[in-house]
Amino acid sequence: MPVVLGSATPSLESLYNVQRKRYQRLHLHKRAGGAQMPTYNIIDMRGQTHTDGISLPLERVIKRHLEAHGQVLLFLNRRGFAPTLLCAACGWQAHCTACDARLTLHRTPPQLSCHHCGLRLQVPKKCAHCDQTSLLPVGMGTQRTESVAQQLFNNVPIYRIDRDTTRSSKKLAERFDEINQGEPCIMVGTQMLAKGHHFPDVTLVAILNADAGFLSPDFRAPERTAQLIVQVAGRSGRAVRPGEVWIQSFQPDNPALISLIQTGYPGFAAAELEQRIKMGMPPAKPMALIRAESVNPQEAINLLNHAKQQFHNIEALGPVPAPLARMSNRSRFQLMLIAETRPQLHRALQQLQIPKIPSKLRWSIDVDPYDSM
Ligand SMILES: [Zn+2]
Ligand SMILES: [Zn+2]
Repeated sequence: MPVVLGSATPSLESLYNVQRKRYQRLHLHKRAGGAQMPTYNIIDMRGQTHTDGISLPLERVIKRHLEAHGQVLLFLNRRGFAPTLLCAACGWQAHCTACDARLTLHRTPPQLSCHHCGLRLQVPKKCAHCDQTSLLPVGMGTQRTESVAQQLFNNVPIYRIDRDTTRSSKKLAERFDEINQGEPCIMVGTQMLAKGHHFPDVTLVAILNADAGFLSPDFRAPERTAQLIVQVAGRSGRAVRPGEVWIQSFQPDNPALISLIQTGYPGFAAAELEQRIKMGMPPAKPMALIRAESVNPQEAINLLNHAKQQFHNIEALGPVPAPLARMSNRSRFQLMLIAETRPQLHRALQQLQIPKIPSKLRWSIDVDPYDSM
């Protein structure tokens, strides 16, 4: 029975299957409703004057769109007010006590919160290290963008749409109803905005920081970032009015970003796939991760070393600390397996023998991890 997969941003896995003639590719040549493709522009943020993350050129573009009775969508993939609370006197940063992660500062309600384990703390008045009162929020979150948008554009409604404002789907639906009345407004949101929603009056989409995704050590991050940018960009100009997409970047020469802007997702994906094939990474070669975590790091390392000794004809890299090396007081490690063929990988995993392990040690196998983090 045929299965149809539909996407404007197909995964490299799917494209690789097309290349190997395991999938047949069908193109849709028109946008729904005959809308035009948006135009892309990059704002070089180096040396730029900005108000809390909104550069002066972007401020002007936003103003132009609001005056032309358009709606504006500001995209930022980080909720909260600021991702870091820093002491300007000594450099101390607020960290989670249970994870290798910084605490995110929230304003509504005011608290420090760990987005990994859920820890919530009161916002300190003084530095925990030097006792000075010089604590600064550093970096941008959606709450901060919302407040700067209110400050710069106080004559239009501002809607923040992220996991913190839209816990109830009724509330979310009400917001979307208001927005779709078509009056000029600004939406500030995370990837919740990227999927599926139709905003016919949005004429401007601004990606406030595209850099983080392209710089992540996860080899799949550029692919995911490009998909997200294209999906967010697709919110604009869906009806009769053409859309503009503006991307703020401190690395405007990043080849992945340039290839996305100049050749669109198809060109970007083809280049990225070629790169993966050249480097022997998925989808060209099958991969699996064995993850282990424990309060006692040595237990996790021992288990992965024990596993590693059993792999002879496939590549086993590690064990290395996982990208988030400690979460909820558990140390996390991983062993990466790369095989030549899929049957070879499966055979190796089937034959893997793990002895009885301490009860607090957890481990798992993830074949074709979507997220190597
Ligand atoms: Zn935590
Ligand atoms: Zn300090």
